[in-house]
Amino acid sequence: MQLKLEEILKKQWGFDTFKPLQKEAVEAALAGRDSLVVLPTGGGKSLCYQLPAAMGNKGLVLVVSPLIALMDDQVAAAREAGLMADAMHSNLAASQRGDTHWRLSEGITELLYVSPERLLAGDLLQYISGRVVLAAVDEAHCVSHWGHEFRPEYRRLTEVLDQFPKAARMALTATATPEVQKDICAQLGLRSPLRLIGHPDRSNLVYRALPRRDQLAQVLEIACRYAGQGGIVYAQTRKDVERIAEGLKKEGISCAPYHAGLSAGDRLRAQDDFVNERLDVIVATIAFGMGIDRSNVRYIAHANTPRSVEHYQQESGRAGRDGLPAECLLLFAASDLALHRYLAKKDVNLPPERERALERQLREIGRYAVSPVCRHRLLTEHFGALYPPVETAVEECVFEEAFCKDADVDSYPEPDQTEGCGACDVCLGETKGLPDDEALLTAKKVLSAAWRAEGRYGTGYVVNLLLGRVNDRMTDNGHDKLQVFGLLKDSGEAAVRSWIDQLIVQDFLEVTEEGEYPLLRITEAGRGLCNGRGAVRLGMPVPPKVKGKKKSKALKGKSACGLPADEELFERLRAFRRALADKAGIPPYVVFHDSVLIEMASLKPKTLDDLRGIKGMGEKKLERYGQRFLDAIAGRPGEMVKPPDVPDHTKI
Ligand code: ADP
Ligand code: MG
Repeated sequence: MQLKLEEILKKQWGFDTFKPLQKEAVEAALAGRDSLVVLPTGGGKSLCYQLPAAMGNKGLVLVVSPLIALMDDQVAAAREAGLMADAMHSNLAASQRGDTHWRLSEGITELLYVSPERLLAGDLLQYISGRVVLAAVDEAHCVSHWGHEFRPEYRRLTEVLDQFPKAARMALTATATPEVQKDICAQLGLRSPLRLIGHPDRSNLVYRALPRRDQLAQVLEIACRYAGQGGIVYAQTRKDVERIAEGLKKEGISCAPYHAGLSAGDRLRAQDDFVNERLDVIVATIAFGMGIDRSNVRYIAHANTPRSVEHYQQESGRAGRDGLPAECLLLFAASDLALHRYLAKKDVNLPPERERALERQLREIGRYAVSPVCRHRLLTEHFGALYPPVETAVEECVFEEAFCKDADVDSYPEPDQTEGCGACDVCLGETKGLPDDEALLTAKKVLSAAWRAEGRYGTGYVVNLLLGRVNDRMTDNGHDKLQVFGLLKDSGEAAVRSWIDQLIVQDFLEVTEEGEYPLLRITEAGRGLCNGRGAVRLGMPVPPKVKGKKKSKALKGKSACGLPADEELFERLRAFRRALADKAGIPPYVVFHDSVLIEMASLKPKTLDDLRGIKGMGEKKLERYGQRFLDAIAGRPGEMVKPPDVPDHTKI
């Protein structure tokens, strides 16, 4: 008799219940129906295509994934769950290739990961075409020009998918605006797909978007708070990456830089060390991390503003895949947006529609960063959903229309009237919005200074003017006699700079780059605001002494990183897991997630039966690792030093 889906979930993965929309996705696949699955990072997308492979019906599930470097980890994780999984990509060693081919031709393989290039090459088709029951395309947003990480090969996938007319297709992604969703369905030729659009909010993440004052100091602050734990720092340029990595190293933080200027070998080593927990922090340009599955990344710090909200969601989403609390910090400066614009246009003539898309994306990420509005809400609304999530959303959201509203990209969100998310700088009271009249008055002061400076000076000059700082140039120009001179001297430089950035994002000021230096200039809208037309919103960080008063919802009842009461035991188990994983040549999270170790450290199980109750303990893992971890928990001698006997992942 066939096992029920829930039974397979429990037996092979050790989970009692499905996560939202997983079961619907599995059922669609089993019924041969195409589907579009949009679930946030950590939402459990892999299971949607892995479970159909575990049905034992001789069918083959094909998974197209863009990341060769990570495919082996995914295969290892699937094998840990007891699946006959393999990967086909150009980095495969010759010996592995032979075995893989053999297993495929014998019809043993249940789950096959392939790179798009490998699939398009066509030679695999003879082995698989009759057997494919499900073709899953992971990171499906790569087919779309409209989002990010566009991959030209993805556009050609339908050619191959059409060779398996009977196989269901499943497109999966974490980040897709309604526009990108439409593109995915069209480009991958999905046939009246079931749309399974999960709620995009990541409730275990705390978001902070702060004005950048001192890049290194601000990054150091968060890195030190999470000392000894996993984090990723994103910076805009290689120079920034190198500088920040140096700075962190000086403070004793275990970290490595990662950018396109390093050799492929250096990059691979850094990534490998990070995934295998030999390294705590990676400082990277965006070249790093798509599909990084290390599940216990506790923070993502953006030392510069990312290129779009989609990028931000994708990159910040790499925090807290394990569902435990994690933090996302974005340090904003308007100059980052100008640099993005410059880089995007430097070598190419963008067609008008791409240029418009670029401008819109920059405006949206700018607004995310400076609006004194709940960050969870801003991100959620960007992806066309409502915040807070409607309780019944799971059923309703099967039909996108039932809960999505049109994303109005240009409207400036209203402040949150409710208590808020309790998990962002705004709702935690660390950033506050100025009352409307005060915001208007402040904006007028800043704008009139820029007006008086007649667009002939840079931001620094206007800041000095507002702060009343005398220098030769100022006196030579007679600007120290102006009424605006020193008008905001009590507010401090950080606030004034941040307000200027906020006014740029809202189009009341602009930075022109016609001449040699960037100049700050008031816009038509800015003049309008001074003359009583339009509305403005300004926020400012609350001084640190008030900070941290409220404890974030995501962190309630837990220590800063969600660690268990017995931290000593947890750390011991972590070291033990690393030794096991090293031996097997697989990442530690593939053995067990942190959440499993945390439960072990709290429950201190004594028998295999006690272990069986822990979420994430499938039968294969129990068999393979159960006794060893029981010994480790009990501190039985010898176990920590004895080289553990673990499966060889290169063979089944
Ligand atoms: P995604 O690809 O959507 O980012 P993954 O497939 O990597 O997510 O899964 C994220 C985490 O969720 C993994 O640690 C996985 O083991 C866990 N997970 C998946 N399904 C479930 C479930 N039904 N219950 C509990 N945890 C789950
Ligand atoms: Mg995934």
